[in-house]
Amino acid sequence: MSNADIYHEMIIDYSRNPLNFGQIENPDVTFHDSNPLCGDSIDIDMNIKENKISDIKFHGRGCAICMACSSVLTEITKGKDIDEVKKITKNDVLSELGLENLQAVRIKCALLSLKVLKYALYSYLAKHMSETGDVDKLKEEAANLY
Ligand SMILES: [Zn+2]
Repeated sequence: MSNADIYHEMIIDYSRNPLNFGQIENPDVTFHDSNPLCGDSIDIDMNIKENKISDIKFHGRGCAICMACSSVLTEITKGKDIDEVKKITKNDVLSELGLENLQAVRIKCALLSLKVLKYALYSYLAKHMSETGDVDKLKEEAANLY
């Protein structure tokens, strides 16, 4: 199998059996956004303990690319320090599934979960921190992701 075939299989696999799929009861932070062009609609719930993402789940519905990228992203994020999560880039997500050269129309499918994650982290930090200069950058990044 070529790399492209392997990545394709991974995407189909994740879309059928997404990782970290479900809801957290009373999460420390939750955020929702959608991609109306495709119909992707995702919520991310997180618990944050001692500056680490102690738990993360996503729910909603989406196309195969959206579900696969949400799986990969939540897997990358789980257990990480907030500071590390802030630095996750679109390429960190896309490269896991060989999607670096994805067409512009599908980029929104692939990056919706990253956008939701960055907004979720922003809303958490804005509520819990007095120093917000750094935090505002996160919001700007989320707004300009695609
Ligand atoms: Zn989609």
